[in-house]
Amino acid sequence: MKNNPLVASEKKFLFGKTTKIVIAEGDGIGPEIMKATLRILKEAKANIETETIEIGEQVYLSGNSAGISDAAWEAISKNSVILKAPITTPQGKGYKSLNVTLRKSLGLFANVRPVSTLHPYVKTHFPNMDVVVIRENEEDLYAGIEHRQTDDVVQCLKLITRPGCEKIVRYAFEYAKAYNRKKVTCMVKDNIMKLTDGLFHTVFKEIAAEYPEIESNSQIIDIGSAKLATVPEEYDVIVTSNLYGDIISDIVAEIGGSVGMAGSANIGRKVAMFEAIHGSAPDIAGQKIANPSGLLNAAILMLAHIGQTEVADTIKNAWLTTLEDGIHTGDIYQSEISKKLVGTEEFADAVIERLGKTPKNLPASTLSKGTGKIEIPNYKRKEATKQLVGVDVFIDWKGEDPEIIGEGLTKINSHNLKLKMITNRGVKVFPEGLKETYCTDHWRCRFVSNTSNTDTKEPKYTSVEYEQVIALLSKLFQNGYDVIKTENLYEFDGQRGFSLGQGE
Ligand code: NAD
Repeated sequence: MKNNPLVASEKKFLFGKTTKIVIAEGDGIGPEIMKATLRILKEAKANIETETIEIGEQVYLSGNSAGISDAAWEAISKNSVILKAPITTPQGKGYKSLNVTLRKSLGLFANVRPVSTLHPYVKTHFPNMDVVVIRENEEDLYAGIEHRQTDDVVQCLKLITRPGCEKIVRYAFEYAKAYNRKKVTCMVKDNIMKLTDGLFHTVFKEIAAEYPEIESNSQIIDIGSAKLATVPEEYDVIVTSNLYGDIISDIVAEIGGSVGMAGSANIGRKVAMFEAIHGSAPDIAGQKIANPSGLLNAAILMLAHIGQTEVADTIKNAWLTTLEDGIHTGDIYQSEISKKLVGTEEFADAVIERLGKTPKNLPASTLSKGTGKIEIPNYKRKEATKQLVGVDVFIDWKGEDPEIIGEGLTKINSHNLKLKMITNRGVKVFPEGLKETYCTDHWRCRFVSNTSNTDTKEPKYTSVEYEQVIALLSKLFQNGYDVIKTENLYEFDGQRGFSLGQGE
């Protein structure tokens, strides 16, 4: 680890508080693009002081399976802002993804990826696109809780939490306010996942109401992604959960024509990490031809995040002017538009020469026009009255006829817990299922106590004691059923906290 006085040495020209930044130079083209980026930051008089840490390939190969040393962790814990160049994860099993480790360990809950097209200077089909994808970064299917339960069936748990939704949705609206954005679109699939995506959507509507000055709307993720890929100019800020965000942020980068150009931010309550979206490009490493724009844009996001929005605008405008002037690295060079083919260092020189200029055709950067400040309040839980009303018992059964397992389980009337229905892969197969439904060896059997009304859509459930569930499981075991898991069925403040079976 070394202290790098590169930028701090200019302190005498600077105002305000110097922010310490942890620098990770990365692998492949990482050191080249980092050097170019830091040179631009220094010349623009960014008020930062840097400390370099070692992470990535060499650390992995030294036997550290996480790719990050204890000394690097210590530097990160002392200084809460990281500018990271791409790293190479060695091939082979046993190496953990450093990005996932950093994201999860540091609570970097928001992934922010702005992409705006630079037509005609960078090729794109969408000249007027300017989109920011804000992706929840910590939960959803990425919690990584997976189980094999039967010969045929594996499962991955999708966990969506209210604090997770509140944090990311609040961040999206605060981001819109801080960076002068006009609209926030929520993308979910709550027509199918009524509880998980439904919670995300509910929280979105609650929080959107607090920001009447910002337009808000919601779309189902499938049509939303399709529209994004065809009319991206209709979007401004998009907020979504982890998996959908992973997919749409790549769509946005790809259609923007700028995989080598975009930066991204991973934001936590305490720590924030900024990086280019591209990888370490080993195919061109050491050739001094890499485009430093992705990392430079990440650094611009970083400056805005630490409140140096004016320096961020100055650098962004100089960068836009450089592109307008046709000074292009090989990855974006087009003979009909480009004027000069340059390498990494010459590109940085060109940006430095243009500090203070604003672009003539491309929209100028306006980061300093917003509030420049994002604060996320601490979560306050609202406790609900929780009542157990039944249990879903998942059974590994190799038969094919739902009537057989259904009739067998109907006879197991244990302490007033009775079979209500059986589903197979979510579809009701007993009682009165369709013969056509394909059944695997994974049967979800719903047991509830007597319900006091005959409306099967929304019956009134009666409360159940946990001892009844345990007695039921014992009885199932004694009767030879292979119980693979259970899910308790609860009502919260009288509202059903579980989905109905398809066809129930
Ligand atoms: P890549 O993004 O490194 O390269 C894809 C293509 O884009 C290559 O042809 C490359 O030359 C080009 N390219 C990328 N950045 C460029 C730039 N700034 N200027 C000019 N051309 C550029 O993707 P990859 O080849 O799939 O991955 C290479 C390595 O990077 C792998 O080890 C991967 O694990 C790693 N990676 C790291 C990160 C990260 O650290 N955040 C992200 C993605 C991939």
